[in-house]
Amino acid sequence: MKNYDVIVIGAGNAGLSSAATLALEGKKVCVFEKHNIPGGCGTSFRRGRFEFEVALHQLSSMGTEEKPGPLRKLFKEYGILDQIEWIEIDSLYKVNLPGGLGVALPTTRKGAEETLIKQFPEEKASILAYFDTVYKFCGEMDDFAAASANSTGGEPSNIKKLLTQALFAKKYPYLAKYALKTTDEVLEDFFKSKELQLCLSAYWCFMGMPPERFPFYILAKCTNIYIEDKPFYLRGGSQVISQALTEAIKKAGGDVKFSCGVKKIVVENGEAVGVIDANGQEYRCKKIISNISPIHTYANLVDRELIPREAREYLSGYTVGISALTCFIGLDCPPETIGFTDSFNLIYDDLDANETFKDAYTLFPDKDPIIATCYTVDDPKVSPEGTSIITAGTLKYGTPWEELNPDEYYETKYKAANIIIDRLEKRFPGIRSHIEEIEVATPLTHMRYLNHPGGAIYGYEQDVKSSFVFFPREVFIKNLTFAGGWVNVCGFGPNYMFGNQVAKQVSKEVK
Ligand SMILES: Cc1cc2nc3c(=O)[nH]c(=O)nc-3n(C[C@H](O)[C@H](O)[C@H](O)COP(=O)(O)OP(=O)(O)OC[C@H]3O[C@@H](n4cnc5c(N)ncnc54)[C@H](O)[C@@H]3O)c2cc1C
Repeated sequence: MKNYDVIVIGAGNAGLSSAATLALEGKKVCVFEKHNIPGGCGTSFRRGRFEFEVALHQLSSMGTEEKPGPLRKLFKEYGILDQIEWIEIDSLYKVNLPGGLGVALPTTRKGAEETLIKQFPEEKASILAYFDTVYKFCGEMDDFAAASANSTGGEPSNIKKLLTQALFAKKYPYLAKYALKTTDEVLEDFFKSKELQLCLSAYWCFMGMPPERFPFYILAKCTNIYIEDKPFYLRGGSQVISQALTEAIKKAGGDVKFSCGVKKIVVENGEAVGVIDANGQEYRCKKIISNISPIHTYANLVDRELIPREAREYLSGYTVGISALTCFIGLDCPPETIGFTDSFNLIYDDLDANETFKDAYTLFPDKDPIIATCYTVDDPKVSPEGTSIITAGTLKYGTPWEELNPDEYYETKYKAANIIIDRLEKRFPGIRSHIEEIEVATPLTHMRYLNHPGGAIYGYEQDVKSSFVFFPREVFIKNLTFAGGWVNVCGFGPNYMFGNQVAKQVSKEVK
């Protein structure tokens, strides 16, 4: 029976980065991945002459060569930074409001402020005060994170203790005032215009929580880091990072097994001691890092009688998050032909984002905001000359899709995709006639590829009560820990970095 120091279940972003960290620290590590390629959400697929990115729209935390962000530094440690051609994106996003007005925000604080002031001059003072608040809040958040990491190890339960200390509000006034507020609570305090609020809340779609439930701290952090560290893409898409990390793990002596899912975690005397793979082969280890959902890990990989009651009770307090319905579109024309000029777009047909978000619980995307990205705008070489790639979709919960029978599924999927194309046609006339390839992914597609309940693409719902100090990170089976979007802020940057953080802790514990 083969022995490892650490076994990682899943080759998603956090799985790969945790394994790379451990391998570079000299630990014997093996990643088990059920799919035949690495990446989880960080992947791509081919149709015809197009290669479609599955998930990545914008990478956060990279920073520039002159002012490197934490992710750039991490990729350098892994030795993969220079293997990849990074592309700096030159706008944060474009919000397309009902009635046709489009507001594209540049990637500097001054540029974003000026653009908004030009569009909403009567709210100039509030716009300036808002950005000031975002920056001061994020500054305090960084100080607080550093202090809590130094003094307590940064675990949620310890951070909770720090938060309740009497001096907290004095030392961190912005954090005390805003940390547990929702996006709407803060934006409504600052601004009168609903349009302006939509222009500033756009990052809610990166977490799948409508503005009335989206934690302000995540909005502030996204605004701050995408401005300071700039949004990035890369030539070849996220699959290139996944592949480079896989090579880095192997180069440092680690193993990565594909088409080799874990079917069971071996638990003895309340401790995780190994795994059994899909071929029935058993492997022993000192620690396991699960890069998949706690639900799948406990319910499907641990023998029923060995699942700790506390784990069931604790996790039942969290709600499975949203999935997505996405059209991957290859056009036989450049993006200008249909007037698609900005890479990342949020399209509203209604000013009430909270009301339209309710459609996320239904099958058809009649009113939901559309998230549309044209990769060709940032990288004209992403597809053959004279063509372009657009992904356009809406956030949808998995439940109504799970209730369809197989015949209904295909009919429903194409009907839903047609609604998205019809709505795009109104904004970008001619798009339908230029479609050369189209593929459609539904919540069931994500469920099938990732094994995530409900096809959730961002893990558990990340509202105020289940994020920040409340991530589900408690350990219930000794030597079994988690890294990934289910126990952390979702997203690419956050999970490469979180995988590294978890691995450093695990590495200390493995003698
Ligand atoms: C459509 C879409 C758009 C997105 N847009 C963005 C964006 O623009 N910016 C951003 O930052 N984030 C975005 N995200 C979110 C981001 O992709 C995820 O938060 C992040 O990739 C999650 O990484 P993870 O480490 O949790 O692993 P996951 O990607 O969840 O991967 C888990 C891995 O575990 C494997 N696995 C499952 N079961 C088993 C088993 N039993 N044994 C072995 N392996 C198993 C799966 O095959 C998979 O490879 C998007 C996601 C999607 C799907």
